[in-house]
Amino acid sequence: MEYISPIKHLYDRIIEYFYHNNPLSKDRLTALAEQNIVSRAIFFNPDGGYIKTPMVHLENGEVEIQESYMSFLWCTIYNFVKMNEAARKLCLSSDDVVQFNLTSVENLEHMNDLFGWILSLQTTYSEWPENFPSPIDGSEFSNTINVIFLHALSYLLYHEVAHLANNHKTYLELINSRLEDLTDDELYQLKSLEVEADNYAIELLLGGNPDEDQTYIRVIGAIMAQLSNLLLIQNVNGLTQLKHPDIDQRLFNLSHRYKFENQVYQLNIEQTLNIGLSLFLHIHKIEYLKDIPDQSAWYENFDGILAHLYQKLDTEKEKTKDSFFSAREDMR
Ligand SMILES: [Zn+2]
Repeated sequence: MEYISPIKHLYDRIIEYFYHNNPLSKDRLTALAEQNIVSRAIFFNPDGGYIKTPMVHLENGEVEIQESYMSFLWCTIYNFVKMNEAARKLCLSSDDVVQFNLTSVENLEHMNDLFGWILSLQTTYSEWPENFPSPIDGSEFSNTINVIFLHALSYLLYHEVAHLANNHKTYLELINSRLEDLTDDELYQLKSLEVEADNYAIELLLGGNPDEDQTYIRVIGAIMAQLSNLLLIQNVNGLTQLKHPDIDQRLFNLSHRYKFENQVYQLNIEQTLNIGLSLFLHIHKIEYLKDIPDQSAWYENFDGILAHLYQKLDTEKEKTKDSFFSAREDMR
């Protein structure tokens, strides 16, 4: 029997969420499609090579997403939510620093296996392992992941739409130029266009809806999308993005746009950032547990610890500042 990736079962819903995420996205995308600025079709690229983040084709207005990237994103979100749950449980014990290990976290082996597969997808395509959780395993948990995933992907696609909608001809010229041909002004311009596209994306995703529950599921999706892209960085040199704003900066901007009245939501967002940034530092073997600031201020929020983690990332960036051409530039 021919293999069909579980992620393919979400393709219809991806299109549905992309166009009809909310009344604003529906209106705006309909208008853009009528003006032939954005194509009504999404190109689901089955290409199994190196993983690629979503991108846009300016010549036909088509947005492209690679199948293995979607599998990567789904599984990363799955693990983030699992880790968040585990951390919440562990927080109830009185330890200052919560650490995951086989005795403290149930099913950690499963998360590890899943994580191993996610990392392997970055360079090599493989079929979705049979016994792994998936978008079609029918569990309530996976159904929740599906919804977060669909919002996360919509956010990334709206970022690409912004490049089309704002007539970013300049964007394409600049992004396709060789780095050494760009002046400082042009590099600055490119980064500004990216910030503008991020802002456009979150605005379109939230659609001006004042409902906190609706906003929360979208904001957590957008944050997990950016955190997933952080995990695609192969080495710490890649943190400093020459043509794009640094991902940690983008995360910071995103998470500071909204303060949720509901404390559980606010805590979950900050905890997710905490987990994502710690995981990145852990993968790259950067010591971040020593010299952790005084914890007395974190009980109400994670500001202190997040500032510490961002500081660690900044220190790493300073170290690699001079290795100009070593940065990976595939984060669109
Ligand atoms: Zn972009």
